[in-house]
Amino acid sequence: MDHYRVYGNPIQQSKSPIIHNAFAIQTAQSIQYDKQLVKLNEFEHVVKTFILEGGKGANVTAPFKEQACQLCDHLSDRAKLSGAVNTLSFHKGEIFGDNTDGLGLVQDLISHQVKLANKKILLLGAGGAAKGVVYSLLEQKPELLIVANRTVAKAQLIVDQYPHENIKSSSFDDTSKFEFDVIINATSAGLSGESVPIPKQIIKAKTICYDMVYGKALTPFLKMAQELGAAQVIDGLGMLVGQAAESFYIWRNVKPETDNIMRQLRAELS
Ligand code: NDP
Repeated sequence: MDHYRVYGNPIQQSKSPIIHNAFAIQTAQSIQYDKQLVKLNEFEHVVKTFILEGGKGANVTAPFKEQACQLCDHLSDRAKLSGAVNTLSFHKGEIFGDNTDGLGLVQDLISHQVKLANKKILLLGAGGAAKGVVYSLLEQKPELLIVANRTVAKAQLIVDQYPHENIKSSSFDDTSKFEFDVIINATSAGLSGESVPIPKQIIKAKTICYDMVYGKALTPFLKMAQELGAAQVIDGLGMLVGQAAESFYIWRNVKPETDNIMRQLRAELS
C-alpha cells in the first residue's frame, strides 16, 4: 500500500485525509493518506524521514509551501514561478514539486460558470495561497489581473515573476481606480472575523466574489459582498477538493470525480 501524507502547522483542521481516502476508494487505488503536525523548524527533517520510510508523496499546507519549494530537486513551471509547492512526489530519492492550488481554483470557478478570459480580476493577498494561483489565472488570459495586498511590496514581488503586461500590483485603496468582474480573496483577514479592507464601491451588481476560505457560515468577505449586491458569492471548498483531485492525479495518474465528496463535506459543514 502506497503511503501519502499532508504536512502543516496547524493540521488538525485539514480535510485532506478524508478527501484523498475517499478518492482512493472511488478509484480503487490502494493508498494510505494521513496528516502530520510539523514543528516550524523540522519540515525538511520530517519530509526526508518520510522518504526513507518509503513515502510516495505529500501535500504541504501553511506555513511550509515556500520551504517545500526550496526542498525540491525538480519543479513544475507553475511551482517554479509561484515559489510555493503544495504537492511533493518522491521518485528514486528525488523530490518533485508542483502546485495544484491554481488548477483547483480555476476549475471551481469554471464549475460555477465563471468566465475569466478577457475579464478583469482582482486577487487580494500575496501570501502562499495568492502566489500559488497567479500562474493558473494568467493561463485563462484575463484582460487584467491586479494583485492587491496590505503590504504592497509583497504583491509587487509576485508580479515581478511574470513577464506579462496584464498583471499589476496595487494597494487595497487603489483598487478603486479599476472595475473588476471577479474578486478573489486570498488573504487570511477573515479568520479574525473581519472582512478584508477594500473600498466597498469596487463590489458592484456584476461582480463575482470568491473567498478561498470556507466554513459553516458565509465568510466576512462574502457576507459583505452579498450585502453589497454582488452577482455571485462562492467559498473555497471547491478549490480545496479540486486541488486535492489534481494532486491525486499527479500521484496515481487517475482523475477522481469530485461531486460526491463535495456534497459530503458541504453537509458536514452545515
Ligand atoms: P499567508 O499567511 O501566507 O498570507 C496571508 C495573507 O493575508 C497575506 O497577504 C496578508 O497580508 C493577508 N492578511 C492577513 N491578515 C490581514 C488583515 N487583517 N488585513 C488584510 N490582509 C491581511 O496565508 P496563505 O496565503 O497560505 O492563506 C490565505 C488564506 O487562504 C488562508 O485563510 C487559507 O486558509 C486559505 N487557503 C485556502 C485554500 C483552499 O483550498 N480553499 C488553499 C490555500 C489557502 P500581508 O502580506 O500584508 O501580511
